[in-house]
Amino acid sequence: VVRPAAVIARLDARALATARAARGFMPDEEGLALAGAALTAPRPGPWLEVGSYCGRSTAYLGAAAVGCGTTLVTVDHHRGSEENQPGEQYHDTDLVDDAGRVDTLPGLRRTLRDAGLERTVVAIVGPSPTVAAIWATPLSFLFLDGGHSPAVQHGDFDSWSPHLRRGGLLAIHDVFPDPRDGGRPPYEIYLRALDSGDFGEVSATGSLRVLRRR
Ligand code: SAH
Ligand code: MG
Repeated sequence: VVRPAAVIARLDARALATARAARGFMPDEEGLALAGAALTAPRPGPWLEVGSYCGRSTAYLGAAAVGCGTTLVTVDHHRGSEENQPGEQYHDTDLVDDAGRVDTLPGLRRTLRDAGLERTVVAIVGPSPTVAAIWATPLSFLFLDGGHSPAVQHGDFDSWSPHLRRGGLLAIHDVFPDPRDGGRPPYEIYLRALDSGDFGEVSATGSLRVLRRR
C-alpha cells in the first residue's frame, strides 16, 4: 500500500486536478487509493474500468496510467444505473440527451479532454457484458464500479474477472459489510472473490477494496 503523499507525487498533476473537480461518485481518499493500487499493478497493463460515468475515477486512474505508460480502457453504456434515472436519488438533470434520456458520455469526454488523457484512456460505449464477451486481452488491473443491481454486479464479476492475469489487481467500489451503509451486491462479489481462493486482500479504503489474483 502506497501512502497518499507518495501516490500524489507519482500522478499526472493535470489529470489529478481534473479528477478532483469532476462530477462523480469517488471520494478523494478512495480515488488516491485506487490510483495508488494501480501503480502497483504488474506491467505493462492494460487496465480496465467498468463504470465511467463522467470520468471521475477514470481520471484518477488515468493520472496513474500516464507515468506507467499503460492504457486504461473504460466501459459504460452511458445511460446511467437505476439510481441515475429521472426521479431517482442520483439523477442529474444536466446529464440528459435531446430525447431526455440519461447521457453521461459528453461529461466523460469533457473530463478526458480537461485531464489531458485522450491518448491514455480509451472509452468503450456499450453494455458491460457485451464488451466482456468480445474481450480477449489479459488485464493487469480491473476496477468494477458499474451497475449495482445483483444481476449486473455479479455479471460484471463473472464476465470480467477471468480476464485478469495472475498477479493482477481487482478493485471493487461500494463494498459495505454493514447493510445499513449500502447495497449488498458489491460486498457479495468481494466475498465471492475471497471465497474462491483465487484472490487475497491487499487494501481497504472507505468502500474500496483491492484484491490480488494469486
Ligand atoms: N466510476 C464512476 C461512477 C460510476 S456510476 C465515478 O467515479 O464517478 C456507475 C456507471 O455504471 C453508470 O455510469 C452507468 O451508466 C454504468 N452502468 C450500469 N450498468 C451498466 C452496464 N450493464 N453496462 C455498462 N455500464 C453500466
Ligand atoms: Mg461507486
